[in-house]
Amino acid sequence: MQNNPLPAISRDELDPAHTVVVATGNLHKLTEIETILSRVLPQTRFVALSQLGDFPEPIENGDSFSANALIKAQDAFERTGFMAVADDSGLVVDALGGAPGIHSARWAGEHGNDSANNEKLMRELADVADDKRTARFHSTVVFVRGIGDVVEGNGDCEGMIGRVPRGSHGFGYDPLFLPNDTPGKTMAELMPDEKNAISHRFHALTDLARRLSWKEA
Ligand code: IMP
Repeated sequence: MQNNPLPAISRDELDPAHTVVVATGNLHKLTEIETILSRVLPQTRFVALSQLGDFPEPIENGDSFSANALIKAQDAFERTGFMAVADDSGLVVDALGGAPGIHSARWAGEHGNDSANNEKLMRELADVADDKRTARFHSTVVFVRGIGDVVEGNGDCEGMIGRVPRGSHGFGYDPLFLPNDTPGKTMAELMPDEKNAISHRFHALTDLARRLSWKEA
């Protein structure tokens, strides 16, 4: 995903009771998270971790999406003292026993090499029949509200893996992923708004928002 530089913010201008730090430097993710969570957290300011300082990235050595999202959210909470949210996501392919899963970003070796990852996916599935090419994007979003106060949301976007990459939008495995919600189109052929309405992150954030509102009630 493209990294957009975001303006720095002084922590003195932030109210700890109404600030949530998003463990990302990516404007797209910040906006997506803010749009959905502000429905259940009104009067909350969402800021990216990168806006508060140049922090080293934590080591994501968890063995699940949930563990890795928690590592990132907990790290942002401990570094800033503000409530924090983080997501971890990836592609889960049934014919590959769930791979690439948590290794999605660096499956072909180098972190974030999307074309190498897609080449590998095409190679690994070359002999797999059309009806066995089922897969899903998964996202887990973890919200740390305080010490020991953690809420998690999960979401999936179900689909199939195509044989030929198509489309120029999005990132990662989008050109090979055919969501069940948009027959005949790859994720990379969808406009950003269309993708955001069906994506795994949308479903995970909606799940998290529901759980947060239950807790508030
Ligand atoms: P992250 O946790 O969002 O950084 O995602 C890890 C990796 O999963 C990315 O580098 C992509 O390879 C893959 N991935 C996650 N979400 C998407 C998506 O929406 N489209 C395509 N690939 C994705």
